[in-house]
Amino acid sequence: MTKKPNILLVYTGGTIGMVKDYKTNALKAFDFSQIVEKIPELQQLNCNINSISFKDPIDSSNMNTQYYGDIVDIINENYLKFDGFVVLTGSDTMSYTSSAISFMLENLQKPIIFTGSQLPIGDLRTDAKENLITSIEVASAYKNDNPVISEVCLYFEYKLYRANRTIKISSEQFEAFTSLNFPPLAESGVHLKFNEHLIYKSNKEDDKLIVRKSLVDEVVVLKLFPGISNLVVESILNIPNLKGVVLETFGAGNAPNSKDFISLLKNAIDKGIKIVNVTQCKSGNVIMGHYDTSLLLREIGVINGKDITTESAIAKLMYLLNKNLSEDEFKKFFEKSLRGELTDKYHF
Ligand code: ASP
Repeated sequence: MTKKPNILLVYTGGTIGMVKDYKTNALKAFDFSQIVEKIPELQQLNCNINSISFKDPIDSSNMNTQYYGDIVDIINENYLKFDGFVVLTGSDTMSYTSSAISFMLENLQKPIIFTGSQLPIGDLRTDAKENLITSIEVASAYKNDNPVISEVCLYFEYKLYRANRTIKISSEQFEAFTSLNFPPLAESGVHLKFNEHLIYKSNKEDDKLIVRKSLVDEVVVLKLFPGISNLVVESILNIPNLKGVVLETFGAGNAPNSKDFISLLKNAIDKGIKIVNVTQCKSGNVIMGHYDTSLLLREIGVINGKDITTESAIAKLMYLLNKNLSEDEFKKFFEKSLRGELTDKYHF
């Protein structure tokens, strides 16, 4: 790229955009429009930086589908003016949010990098500066006149991940995220090294960004545990208007195979509720039929979440439930990779 890339910082809230008031010791949001003045290092980057902030920045625990829509609107409205986007959110729900945005934007041709920090940007020991500076570098990276990244990513503590593969693993360590079923897309050391063979290649023919804002939020995560009562399962599956369930199962996708439990699930599926089998394990995948305790799940029509994370499964349910797909189509779309969120090759 001959000209300097234009990068838009989108601040939604979270610790990263805070400074400590040393008199009171309390954290408070700072005016993000002054970000370049506040962090002079940003001027040394080889790009033009603009910023936009939520009017009332939020702690990411208050994130919801409405705010997902606001983020998507900001990106869509600025899509042609900017070459890359760095979205700053609180880390607590960043994997959920970035996964959802990856589904809501189809035919993405530009980088969208989510980042945040464990310590506020104004803190002496902050991790915010490195996360922010490297995210901007990633969003500005070009090769042969094309952006190196054209997908939704999450950058934290020297690693760039495909966003919809991440989970938050620590509320304490600077290395707060991981992606155990898919390797990092880049690692930052002395050099910023991209694992180019893993990076999603956008299809240039299909260059119009398609934005899908409506999501269905009548979904639930049902985490199994030994001793869960049928009454609890039944109550959850009978929530009025429930449309989708992420069933967090044991190991390689196993669940109790008692007649009563299975018939509760079957009744829900017969009513049109989509149930996706996602493992509680942090790595590895669901293999339906590998054990007797998952055979019946497959037979009654439970969808195989393969190696998808719960965070991404919830987002994908919200996205696909809006599409009026037949039962077979829904299963087909869920079980295949739409944005690199699961590994297609597991066909059992
Ligand atoms: N509670 C904060 C949030 O998620 C933590 C952070 O910013 O990392 O908004």
